[in-house]
Amino acid sequence: MTKEEIKKYKKILEEEKEKLEKEIAEHEELVDFGVDIDGADEEADEAEEMGNRMAISQTLKKRLEEISGALRRIEEEKYGRCIKCGGEISREILNVVPESDLCVKCKQLSLGQ
Ligand SMILES: [Zn+2]
Repeated sequence: MTKEEIKKYKKILEEEKEKLEKEIAEHEELVDFGVDIDGADEEADEAEEMGNRMAISQTLKKRLEEISGALRRIEEEKYGRCIKCGGEISREILNVVPESDLCVKCKQLSLGQ
């Protein structure tokens, strides 16, 4: 991968990271204060709603971790390489999921387990 390409992915990842951090902060605020944004007045609904928000927050945090990991790999000059086999991760994958750390083969193996 060329330096230009790395730069491009780094920028995408940094922007994504910033966006996620903002989203997570917003979700945490809602969870903390129990702000009712949908007007759900039944307790069960509220509990479910809260659960959903926490699940979303968890998903966002996991993605943030993956993005931070990808940025770290850029610093270590390992970005774009599979963490398992060291093979190159195709641009098609990186363009869709820039934080990918597995090549197609290893990804399929990990999903199959
Ligand atoms: Zn691999």
